[in-house]
Amino acid sequence: MDLSLSDEEQTFRDEVRQFLSAKLTSTLRAAAASSPAFFVEPDIGLTWQAILLEQGWLAYQWPKEYGGTGWSSTQRYIFEKECALAGAPQINNVGLKLFAPVVYRFGSKKQKTTLLPRVLTGVDIWCQGFSEPQAGSDLASLQTRAIRDGDNYLVNGSKLWTTHAHHSNRMFCLVRTDAGAKRHAGISFLLIDMATPGVSVRPILTLGGDHEVNAVFFDNVLVPVDNRVGEEGQGWVIAKFLLENERGGSCFAPRLLSELDRMDAAALNGPDGYGGVLADDMQWRRRVARIRLSARALELLELRILADLAKGRPPGPQTSVTKLVASSLQQDIDLAWLDLFGAAGLEHTMQRPLYGQTAPKYVFSPEAQTAASRYLNNRAWTIFGGTSEIQVSILAKNVLNM
Ligand SMILES: Cc1cc2nc3c(=O)[nH]c(=O)nc-3n(C[C@H](O)[C@H](O)[C@H](O)COP(=O)(O)OP(=O)(O)OC[C@H]3O[C@@H](n4cnc5c(N)ncnc54)[C@H](O)[C@@H]3O)c2cc1C
Repeated sequence: MDLSLSDEEQTFRDEVRQFLSAKLTSTLRAAAASSPAFFVEPDIGLTWQAILLEQGWLAYQWPKEYGGTGWSSTQRYIFEKECALAGAPQINNVGLKLFAPVVYRFGSKKQKTTLLPRVLTGVDIWCQGFSEPQAGSDLASLQTRAIRDGDNYLVNGSKLWTTHAHHSNRMFCLVRTDAGAKRHAGISFLLIDMATPGVSVRPILTLGGDHEVNAVFFDNVLVPVDNRVGEEGQGWVIAKFLLENERGGSCFAPRLLSELDRMDAAALNGPDGYGGVLADDMQWRRRVARIRLSARALELLELRILADLAKGRPPGPQTSVTKLVASSLQQDIDLAWLDLFGAAGLEHTMQRPLYGQTAPKYVFSPEAQTAASRYLNNRAWTIFGGTSEIQVSILAKNVLNM
């Protein structure tokens, strides 16, 4: 694989760098650095989203006819990499990367024209209502019922672990429309306005002290039949498409590698005045080098997947490898940060405002301030988007024919 950039690609990279240096303000960078959650809070995320939209680079993965850029796979990767290096905020991409492809692949003409622009402008913030108390890895056992009542469905049930449901005005969800059909066949893909009477959202606070996930309850919620995407009973096909999209085309390596760069700098300079000895410690250097080598290997695989996607080839089980490796590397990095800061990291975390506390008090570096919270929150990496055990099973079945 030739990894050198052509002249045109270097010009493009310089353009991205110029854009980031002009538009990614120090406030946005600081907010991104000090967020220990997976997505930044909406005020920061939507500000950055509007800047990207104005530049025409927000929906770069979308087909051009709906607002995409038409970038090559290398350009996409350059963009992701430069954003990671510059410390751009990780915006809530549930609408942009999960929901939108479903709309332009399965949606009606009306759904395409009305829903996609609202994703771009951030008027609609979407959350994903798939998992339920008894349906996670075994998603097809979901129980939320939608019973047809004239031009509406009457929805009852609940969803669990719904990321940013408390910030969202719309949810796409899987519901059981035919309890008599085989379990995969009786599922439909429904869009629910979160302001509909009967919808309630209960926060779940994570170990790191953050509020990102929720339980959502539906008590006799009326949803117009027009809010269904695809045919009745087609929900499983759409869900599989969405989940493959969720895992495929993700660029985990750039963020991991830029985090390792920051870690090197912190080890060299001494985190918050607590040392600086680690930069010369052979064990530490070997440990970080091992993580970096794996992250580089991951980068090559991600580039290959993007190149395949650009040629219209579905990535298949390769995406299970990227999810598996990225999750474990992220957790290795989180643990390394904790070791780097030692007891001071825990102490600094105590200073950071938790959910419900307003006055920010970032007296230490963002890395020190959030190391423990990140470590705790990121335990979820090996769970969300399909657990590591499930990825291993996919590989065993589809690659090793076991
Ligand atoms: C932070 C976070 C955010 C999330 N956000 C969302 C969201 O926005 N929307 C949404 O719909 N869901 C979301 N989820 C839910 C996530 O997709 C599920 O947690 C995940 O699919 C696992 O399901 P479960 O929690 O029910 O665990 P289970 O499926 O009950 O699994 C429990 C354990 O058993 C193992 N296991 C289960 N089945 C097998 C098997 N066949 N072989 C081997 N091992 C197995 C699992 O690997 C795991 O270790 C989120 C989860 C987290 C933690």
